[in-house]
Amino acid sequence: MTGTQGDLVQSWLNRISGLNQWRQSGQRAPNKPLLLLYALGRLHNYGNSRVVFESDEIYLKKMLEDFGPPRPHGHSPEYAFSRMNRDRIWRIDTPDGIPPVVDSRRALVEADAVGRLPDEDEELLVARPELFSQTVQKLLRGNWPDSMHSEICERVGLELESILAGDAGEAGMAADTAATGRQAEQKRDPDFRPQVLRAYEYQCAMCGWDARLSDSSVALEAAHIQWKAYQGPDDTRNGLCLCVLHHRLFDRGVLGISPDLRVVVSQDFNGRGMSAQLVIELANQQITPPQAPDQRPDEQYIVWHQEQVFKSPARVPH
Ligand SMILES: [Zn+2]
Repeated sequence: MTGTQGDLVQSWLNRISGLNQWRQSGQRAPNKPLLLLYALGRLHNYGNSRVVFESDEIYLKKMLEDFGPPRPHGHSPEYAFSRMNRDRIWRIDTPDGIPPVVDSRRALVEADAVGRLPDEDEELLVARPELFSQTVQKLLRGNWPDSMHSEICERVGLELESILAGDAGEAGMAADTAATGRQAEQKRDPDFRPQVLRAYEYQCAMCGWDARLSDSSVALEAAHIQWKAYQGPDDTRNGLCLCVLHHRLFDRGVLGISPDLRVVVSQDFNGRGMSAQLVIELANQQITPPQAPDQRPDEQYIVWHQEQVFKSPARVPH
């Protein structure tokens, strides 16, 4: 890697870390990372990262609804669209060359605004697939739990499997460490899963799933209540033992728990037959608590999940 290219890589990784590090007291702010993932998907599939505000707005809103925090009054993709320009992540082009003066939706529409990564960054990411993969992984891990990565990738036109396979080579990793320090990567505690499963006696706290393949639990997972991407600790009191289905729905905000350990189900969730049986009928049921009182989910994590993940309002049980 030449010195100049090394500088470009470092500059890119610094700007990406800046995006991930934007936090306000644990409040989720996935707008910019999601928009950037969308632009990266376009770069991957079309060879350029152009996002046309007016035509892509509906799609961006839908992604924010699905993968962003609850917003009763709807999401506004225009702010991230404008601010990524100021963060020097991308630039905004208009047909007449005059950038929109305000961040409003109307100004972006009237100006026919198009956002795209700077040429040198596009070229760099195309020339260095391992940097592309590393960028996507940083954005995913910095903002969402693993259970959501494949759906998010699919939505922006990327394949998680090939992203993971294209993991950073040595050069990329070295530049990354130099650029961001080690604090950005959260290490996983290998004891978290076994401790949570044992605490809940190897069954889903919501449905009782306790299946085994030979002598190992299967399709049973340890969920973080407050996401690791948002400093949720690897602590049993921040864990729930859930089957894969209920884990997925818990991370997507379909399901939550209340401080008195009852299941809450979002009014936005619909389904009949098995879907109703496996989800809607859980509303207001007591979860199976962990065996020891000091392993019970801590209220601060439950409140974080309620405010940042759960798609309120909750269904009123029949
Ligand atoms: Zn379950």
